This record gives sequence, C-alpha cells and structure tokens, in this order.
Amino acid sequence: MPKHLVNTSKIVIKPKKSLGQNFLIDENIARKIVESLNLTKDDVVVEIGPGQGALTKYIVDNVKKIYAVEIDKRAAEELRSNISSKKLKIINQDILEFDLSALDTGSKKLKLVGNIPYHLTSPILFKAIEYHKIITNVTMMIQKEVADRLTAKPNSKAYGILSVLTQFYGVPKSLFKVSPNCFFPKPKVTSTVVRIDFHHQLPFENVDEKLFRIVVRTTFGKRRKTLKNCLKYLPFDETIVKNIIQKINFPLNKRPEELSINEFVILTDKIDEIIKCPIV
Ligand code: SAM
Repeated sequence: MPKHLVNTSKIVIKPKKSLGQNFLIDENIARKIVESLNLTKDDVVVEIGPGQGALTKYIVDNVKKIYAVEIDKRAAEELRSNISSKKLKIINQDILEFDLSALDTGSKKLKLVGNIPYHLTSPILFKAIEYHKIITNVTMMIQKEVADRLTAKPNSKAYGILSVLTQFYGVPKSLFKVSPNCFFPKPKVTSTVVRIDFHHQLPFENVDEKLFRIVVRTTFGKRRKTLKNCLKYLPFDETIVKNIIQKINFPLNKRPEELSINEFVILTDKIDEIIKCPIV
C-alpha cells in the first residue's frame, strides 16, 4: 500500500448489523475491485456505502469526481477525516432516496461501485436499472447466491426477476469471489464481485419497458404456475386481463422460468397490442 494512503483496515466505528456493516479489511481485494473499474481521469463515480473508505481511497486520485453516498453519519465523518480531496464529495444520505440524475456530471455517464449491504442488493439493483440511461456500469460486491441469479439462464432455479431485468438492461458478469475472511466482522456468506455493463441502446428498442417490468414481476410472482395462471395477476382492469388471456397468441402452458429474455419481450409486445387494441 502506498504510504500516503490511510489505513482503513483498522475499523474504528462499531459495526452496525442493521446497516449491513461488514467492512472490507483486505487491501488486495480492495485494489482488485478498483482495478476492475478501469477508471479514467474523466470518470464520475458514485460509491454506495463507502464506510471508512476501503475502496474510496484507491478511487479518488484516479477519477474526475467521486460522490460517496453513506447513510451512517459516523462512517461519513470517519471518511471525511480519512480522505481529504476536492474530488470527493461525501453525501450523508440513504442511497435509495438519492436522486442520481441530480448530480452534476456534464454529459458524462456515471460508474456505480459499492461493497453494499447485502439486504439492500435488490433495491439497489432496481435503482440502478431505473437510472440505466445515465449509468455506464455498476460494480458491486454482493452475496454469491445473488450474483448467480444475475447471470442465470432459463430453466434453472436461480433464474428470476433479477436475471431477466439485468440481462434485459445490460450484460452482467461475475468477476471474482471474496472470502468472508476479508471482512470485519466476517459475514456468514461468500461474496462475489459483479459488474453489469448497461446497454448504450437497448437491443429491444420498441418494447414498452414499463409493461415489460410489470409482466416479468407479475409472472415471477407465481413462478411455479403456468403463464395462463400467472397472467391473471396482471395489475389491470379485470376485463382487460380476461381479454389478454383469451386472445393472446402465445404458449400459455409455459412457466415464467422457461422464458428467455426475447420471449418475455414477445409476450410483452403481444399483451401491449391487446391492451391498445382490445377489439380484434
Ligand atoms: N465500502 C465499505 C467497505 O468496503 O469497507 C463499507 C461496506 S459495508 C458492507 C456497507 C456500507 O453501506 C456501510 O458503510 C453502511 O453504513 C452503508 N449503508 C448501509 N445502508 C445504506 C444506505 N441505505 N445508503 C447508503 N449507505 C448505506
């Protein structure tokens, strides 16, 4: 470790379980994560949950700006005393309430990074997806089981909402595993660092994205049922739902976990057609 970098492996704040505070204390892993970001001097980074700055200290000198969004006031203060740089802006806020589009980035898209609290993995991923148009990629340390879900293919147990949505909006990749020994306190699970590169342009341009998300969420809400049964739960007027089930030209005997992303797009398009033009 270069001399000027602060020692973040000595944890001075008392970790709070409720905030998912398992701090990274392995410098090699911290460097490896930051290397995987392929940072350039004009990058604008948002770090989610910087804690005492295990990753932040390796990022700050290599980017144009880093916004570090940390909910815990104690950690935000510790970070402030650990790293002093004009490039670093510490924001003491809940990432789930933070408006990423309000950041001043010029026309540059953001890179998101974080060793995040595991209980917030899905909401944080959904948030990233919501802002996909202004994000280049997301690199996060998450629970291995969840990482497996992101990259899962149809007809597997791990395939679900997270797989379909992340693979619709981008390309998820598991980079490397991280042992519980690299954290303080040690989590009970193995972690994986994943990256999702968001598409610059969605491959399925014409599909109604909002409806696509509704179809994916509704059908996977009943993943063991056939589509015919799943579609009953679409959050639309009863007559519209009945109309969809009666008229749709799609194999409704399939189950959601059997459908590829492409098939979900086709299903959504067909539902859309019926909603827009109910009397055919
Ligand atoms: N990045 C640091 C590291 O690698 O040592 C800390 C990682 S720790 C697993 C997760 C961090 O996220 C903690 O600092 C915690 O306080 C913060 N955090 C938890 N919930 C948050 C939220 N809703 N918004 C922002 N930060 C949050």
